[in-house]
Parts: sequence; C-alpha cells; structure tokens
Amino acid sequence: MRIAVYPGSFDPVTLGHGDIIERTAKMFDKVIIGVLNNKAKSPLFSVEERVNMLREVTAGLPNVEVQSFEGLLIDFLRKNSARVIVRGLRAITDFEYELQMAQTNRVIAPEIDTIFLTTNLRYSYLSSSIVKEIAEYHGDISEFLHPMIAEKVREKLACRQQ
Ligand code: ADP
Repeated sequence: MRIAVYPGSFDPVTLGHGDIIERTAKMFDKVIIGVLNNKAKSPLFSVEERVNMLREVTAGLPNVEVQSFEGLLIDFLRKNSARVIVRGLRAITDFEYELQMAQTNRVIAPEIDTIFLTTNLRYSYLSSSIVKEIAEYHGDISEFLHPMIAEKVREKLACRQQ
C-alpha cells in the first residue's frame, strides 16, 4: 500500500491545502494529513479543532485520514508505515526552507522521500496567516476557505475580540 503523509499546521485549512489534498489522494492508496501540534507556536485553533475541521472538509475523500502529531515528522511516518512526505510549493520563497527540510529528513531517514506539488496558480499567493490577517480586520475571506471553515474563523475571532 502506498501511503503518503501531508504535514502542516493547517491553522486553518485553506482551499490551497484542499487542492493539494485532492491531488495527492488520487496518487496514493492512502493519505494521512498530519496536523502538527507545535507547542512553541500559539495557533488560532487548537490541534483538536484543526483536526476536526480537516476531517469535515475531507469527508468525501475515503482514502484520506487526519491525525495530529508531535515531535519528528519522520517518526510519525514510520509509525504509520508511510514512505512519502508531500509538501506544496507556492513560490520560490518556499523553496529554500523546503529544500533544507527535505534534505535533512533524507539524511536521518533515507527510506523516506519528499515530493513537492506546485500549487494551483489560483491559490499560489494564499497562506493561513494571510487569511487570518484579513479576517482580523473583517475582510472577506470567502474566496480562500471552505464556507464552513470561513464561518469557524469568524466565530473564533468574534469570541477573541469580546
Ligand atoms: P507549515 O506550518 O508547515 O508551513 P502550513 O499549514 O502553512 O504548514 O502548510 C502545509 C503545507 O501546505 C506546506 O507544504 C505548504 O507549502 C502547503 N501550502 C500552504 N498554503 C498552500 C496553498 N495556498 N496552496 C498549496 N499548498 C499550500
């Protein structure tokens, strides 16, 4: 069985992530979305909320599952018998960091490969942080997020601003 892991923070999942997930699901028998529980960052959504949102938006994709993880990504892959890491490349600015990560992971886990999907041009400028910034100032985020996720972002910010 060919299993791939698509890791990230997904705070929150955007249509750009969704595009990568759909394309990856067509290429592998199983795709595990790994939601990073990074204690050093202070995300807008808790890791449980991010996992649940991803489960809702991928409900129509039977070979996609969502899990949270902590620690080294390669340990998460090994635990799940996965051999491939999938990352999205938006612009040249992503490249340097991604190359460094991929090369490092390859040294510590030679059996694991990283593949990159170039993003859909439509979403090539999109990031979770930009969406949060727009939402913070009450801008329209409906072009960038699944309607249900956009609603959750608005609710969350409204709670925080009270
Ligand atoms: P991280 O915190 O690891 O950067 P993100 O949640 O921001 O995690 O992104 C996870 C993965 O999705 C990364 O490979 C990133 O390049 C990719 N990605 C982020 N935004 C987009 C987008 N708009 N289109 C396609 N891929 C994206």
